[in-house]
Amino acid sequence: MSDQAGIIARDLVQVYSSGRKLWGKSDAFRAVDRVSLSIAPGETLGIVGESGSGKSTLGRMIAGIEAPSSGLVTFWGEHYAPAGSAEWRRQRRHVQVVFQNPAAVVDPRWSIHAQVREALTTHERLAASEADDRAQAMLAMVGLGAMGKRLPHQLSGGQLQRAVIARALVINPRLVVCDEAVSALDVSVQAQIINLLLELRQKLDLSLMFISHDLSVVRHISHRVGVMHAGRLLEIGDSASLFDNPQNDYTRRLLAAIPADSPRQRRERDMRAFGGAAQPTNPQLSVPS
Ligand code: ADP
Ligand code: MG
Repeated sequence: MSDQAGIIARDLVQVYSSGRKLWGKSDAFRAVDRVSLSIAPGETLGIVGESGSGKSTLGRMIAGIEAPSSGLVTFWGEHYAPAGSAEWRRQRRHVQVVFQNPAAVVDPRWSIHAQVREALTTHERLAASEADDRAQAMLAMVGLGAMGKRLPHQLSGGQLQRAVIARALVINPRLVVCDEAVSALDVSVQAQIINLLLELRQKLDLSLMFISHDLSVVRHISHRVGVMHAGRLLEIGDSASLFDNPQNDYTRRLLAAIPADSPRQRRERDMRAFGGAAQPTNPQLSVPS
């Protein structure tokens, strides 16, 4: 690969059509409309937006799973080869995707150790003992060191997502696209998985694209955040400034819609909104915490 590190996407467009015609016109529409962005090595880019705004479609194009209708993705200086080709399979090991539902992507009959090991041996010719050791070390890194023998149904949702993350990371990808990877988990488990991803990103020098409809989740993990709406990337910027000083009206509305999840957070938000003076909009909401 060339020395041009990271991911650069230019003018990505994805057009979908059901193939049917409505009133004689094609129903083709742009699920993603001229999106350009970059992700540096070791950087986490969060992508937020309502359901249907094009986040997953964008993620699939960035990951090379789906070719764009037009536009270009450069991955460490290379373009993705046509899906399914030998070249594409070689490129695949550098980018992994973690989805919302871990149970759907594991084999229910195999231990999680066997599944992590298999991911590794698909990509590398290794002596049996080395494959075992590396699978075990990866499981330990995600906090499942003692659970390798378990079958998927013997794990909780959070543990199973850890196993899926281990399987994705064991082959040392450069980019991991997490598409709603914590959205199905309890809030406390979400925080654990996010902390795990933060830790692994640092240890393994990963680039992360972290897609979620939940802004509060994205905020904590991302260096920069992009806001999608109706296929467009409305705004992209440094996480802190985007959340504290959104430039776009839509972003402001999206932020205003975050539910306040604790009296303390509500109070802090009210303080911010009133320039530091503790004057909550609704006194009944500001129960001391
Ligand atoms: P998000 O992940 O933000 O919810 P998606 O990228 O899944 O949004 O979808 C964006 C739009 O594209 C939606 O209107 C969705 O119905 C449509 N869409 C997504 N994938 C396909 C597909 N394979 N074929 C046709 N339409 C699709
Ligand atoms: Mg989606």
